[in-house]
Amino acid sequence: MDRTRRISLLIVTVLGLLALGGPASTAAPAKKPAQEAVPGELLIGFRGDVDQKAVLKAVGATEKKSFKKIHGALVRVGPDAVEETLAKLRKDPRVRYAEQNFVVHADVVPNDPSFSSLWGMNSIGAPSAWNVTAGSAAVTVADIDTGVDWSHPDLSAQIWVNPGENCAGCRTDGVDNDHNGYVDDWRGWDFANGDNNPMDDHGHGTHVAGTIGAVGNNGVGVAGVNWNVQIMPVKFLNAQGSGTTADAVSAVLYAAQNGADVMNNSWAGGDYSQALADAITVADQHNSLFVAAAGNDGSDNDADPTYPASYDLPNVVAVAATDSSDDLAYFSNYGAQSVDLGAPGVNIYSTWPGGGYQYLSGTSMATPHVAGAAALAKAEFPAATAVGLKALLLGSADADPALSGVTTAGGRLNVGTAVSCSSSPQVWLDSPRPGFIVDVGTPVSFSAIATDCADSGGVSVSANVNGTAVALTPRGDGLYSGTFTPAERGAVTFSVTASVGGASTTRNVTGSATQAYPISAGGPPVSVTTTSPGENAELRFSGTAGERISLGISGVTMTAAQVSIVKPGGGNVAMTYAGTSGGFIDTKTLPVTGAYTIVIDPLLSVTGSMTLTLYDVPADAVGTITPGGPTTSISIGTPCQNARVTFTGAAGQ
Ligand code: CA
Repeated sequence: MDRTRRISLLIVTVLGLLALGGPASTAAPAKKPAQEAVPGELLIGFRGDVDQKAVLKAVGATEKKSFKKIHGALVRVGPDAVEETLAKLRKDPRVRYAEQNFVVHADVVPNDPSFSSLWGMNSIGAPSAWNVTAGSAAVTVADIDTGVDWSHPDLSAQIWVNPGENCAGCRTDGVDNDHNGYVDDWRGWDFANGDNNPMDDHGHGTHVAGTIGAVGNNGVGVAGVNWNVQIMPVKFLNAQGSGTTADAVSAVLYAAQNGADVMNNSWAGGDYSQALADAITVADQHNSLFVAAAGNDGSDNDADPTYPASYDLPNVVAVAATDSSDDLAYFSNYGAQSVDLGAPGVNIYSTWPGGGYQYLSGTSMATPHVAGAAALAKAEFPAATAVGLKALLLGSADADPALSGVTTAGGRLNVGTAVSCSSSPQVWLDSPRPGFIVDVGTPVSFSAIATDCADSGGVSVSANVNGTAVALTPRGDGLYSGTFTPAERGAVTFSVTASVGGASTTRNVTGSATQAYPISAGGPPVSVTTTSPGENAELRFSGTAGERISLGISGVTMTAAQVSIVKPGGGNVAMTYAGTSGGFIDTKTLPVTGAYTIVIDPLLSVTGSMTLTLYDVPADAVGTITPGGPTTSISIGTPCQNARVTFTGAAGQ
């Protein structure tokens, strides 16, 4: 695969879906393009207190930026040495992870203005929410994007001012008065240009800001979900709407460190990044809700994850886009196990740099409706925790047939219902996800949120598996975790009940316990056979985060079968259909370390056998060639491995 620019392929994907008349959950998922990375840059995570300089010296890398909070660093190597250096670092016991510094993009699609403005506010019940609260200046939402036009008449009163840089003369004294590592960051920071002026030179971040909190009831322009709120401009996307994973890490750490209650992330791109996952975990530790756009590829995030929305962390909420008929927008990504809820994202009217207004569409526009709703709920329930806000918003969503089976909540945001919560138990099951598969005798981790209107106090919580009580360990913020071990094959139902006063709420998730065939990446092919109609077959392998695998399917006598690779705890990494001509799953980077399951689900009453080969995909094969020089041979040993041959050329040659 070449590193084709994502944006051009995005257009191809959207056109393809238009021709089909929009995405259907039964259609094969659209294929997302290859991920673009910054040439010669790597993100590295170190174990404990190792000598980082020695690690870098051994591979000829130089440090560009240190991320002390996550024990990581951004480093430079020769652009042609990326694959080779990654391979060396991944074998170094002092290194926790090594990955490319991906390019990410603002998640917006072009559109034609047509609808009356602000239909989305009515759709999500904002007018009834405003009867309860119009927001609070005590709540801060970080707008992690292209910046914000902080001088816009509808936004200027809402811009966060850093109290640590706001003493007399402190804004411009050239001193890092609050010792947060940034000089004169009195109204946020610009990581794209490395300065203290996060002014928007694109427009996307300003549009997002208006939906979160354009001043309401001021006779000017539009109203945001919050009429009062503090918007923290954290710019990391440039004038073209592009940025890097490394700058995203900096932006998330900045927002967490400086007290953002909610982070709006209307951008996507890159493969799984442990550095970014670590930064979002720091946000979780700072009690900050991370709201992210599901993506605009029209594809299934369960089969083909979109980051950062697809990080499986307790403080992440992934948002799909809906239209004014509560249908899933044609461009919106979805995911029964990985996208949480829908919010308005088609023809959204909001603020634009230079004091203007603009219609835009995208999951980028849906995300700030949810981030804004979280902020409004935080204003109404000041003791709310980040995970509590997640349980409240997902539990308050309006059931929507178009979102049922393609989002975890099966519904569209209703902020009116959320802020009207009154002494009511809210329960959400984060993991395992519906359809989880585990081995008999192997412990399964679970994670649940239980609060009283987003507040972790005053709630009694209990859990059981197939009716047998299991122990819960509270984190203190409404998140509970634990493990259970299935004793026999068959359906496993995990159930959590929360009670507040006389009211109680229960949520269940059902999966299955099986006994799977072993298979290993790089090991021999394994053949499986099903004999009864409706019978599935499972194979189990242990995978490591960052490992690259592909799957070959041959010798198929089943006429049609669905083959999925399921993460530890549930959720697909990949899915394909195989027939008698076989099948293939292209290279996937495994997102977590643990036991993965390959599920073979023959369609209808089909039975038969197939042979699976799990490949351990090595780094790209590399070589050099000289114009006019001898022939160069290069070979690849594994299906899906890439090869690259480079040469030095002169202008005009
Ligand atoms: Ca500072």
